Amino acid sequence: MPTTPHVLAIDIGGTKLAGALVDADGEILASAQRPTPPADVFGALASLIAELTGSGPPPVAVGIGCAGPLDLAAGTVSPVNIGTWRGFPVRDEVAALTGLPTTLAGDAQCFALGEHWLGAGQGSEALLGVVVSTGIGGGLVMGGVPLLGPTGNAGHVGHMTVEVAGEPCDCGGRGCVERYASGPHLTRWAVEQGWHPDARAWQAGSADGRAGSGDGRAGALGTRAVDARSLAEDAAAGHPVAVAAFERGARALAAMVVSTTAVVDVRKVVIGGGVANAGEVLFAPLRRAVDDLGGLAFVKSVEITRSTLGVRAGLAGAARLAWSATAAQPTAKGAQATATAAQPAVTGARPTAPRDAR
Ligand SMILES: [Zn+2]
Repeated sequence: MPTTPHVLAIDIGGTKLAGALVDADGEILASAQRPTPPADVFGALASLIAELTGSGPPPVAVGIGCAGPLDLAAGTVSPVNIGTWRGFPVRDEVAALTGLPTTLAGDAQCFALGEHWLGAGQGSEALLGVVVSTGIGGGLVMGGVPLLGPTGNAGHVGHMTVEVAGEPCDCGGRGCVERYASGPHLTRWAVEQGWHPDARAWQAGSADGRAGSGDGRAGALGTRAVDARSLAEDAAAGHPVAVAAFERGARALAAMVVSTTAVVDVRKVVIGGGVANAGEVLFAPLRRAVDDLGGLAFVKSVEITRSTLGVRAGLAGAARLAWSATAAQPTAKGAQATATAAQPAVTGARPTAPRDAR
């Protein structure tokens, strides 16, 4: 077990619960995960925490990144994909279980914070992190501080309207970027336009630029999933509908990037999530569309880059959140963090006091 000072980082999602012990340099000292069960999610979380903290010196604080929406002032979460948690007081429950100061933020906010601390967003004065996956989430890090907002939902860029007469979204809104650029909606549109992953003309070879990892999915007829990964493979191979799907999605993302940049002078956008694995199939049309849609120089000059931490970004951000709530500040590793910047940005982010002294 780790002997250096460390925090407990927790990442709660609809499919898995992940945790890690992380030191002040961002090194992962131990990690564990569980599938998110259909019931008694907190029981599974408690067992994950016990596995990580069962022996050795205890962590100094806990940081939690959780799927939203959440209410930061109350410390409660109502993740769309965890049906048994509605207004669940996860921050206070974890604080009570561990006796440690516990800080909560959204999972995409933690992604952005993690990329700012240790990944592609290091040193950025104004960072937007975006996770493009089954849905689209986002988080802002301004001056080294996560911008969480009074309710804790700042950076919800997936539900920014990019089409004023657009399609209805699951959120109840209309024309949201998620409706155009999330993995399922990229795929849905392509299928509507006649794309199918088992059309033989697009299966031959697994040429350069394919998004797959060589697991043979692109082999025999009928074996490829109707998903964004197959769509990315076909776009890389030049399938016109697949290419058009990514260009359409990239344009929606670009509208969001341009608008967000105009509001808060974002300097860098780091994009992660499964759809970002499409690589240049997504990023090339995205950069072109930002140049096309943006007008002002400060908007056009926003830098767009791919996540370097990948799935570790969320845990890194949760760890950074935890460190920021302690007296011991983490190593900035190139980030322009200051003593002030490392403090939680809003009152809602204030850690819960431990129930008993360690
Ligand atoms: Zn929406």
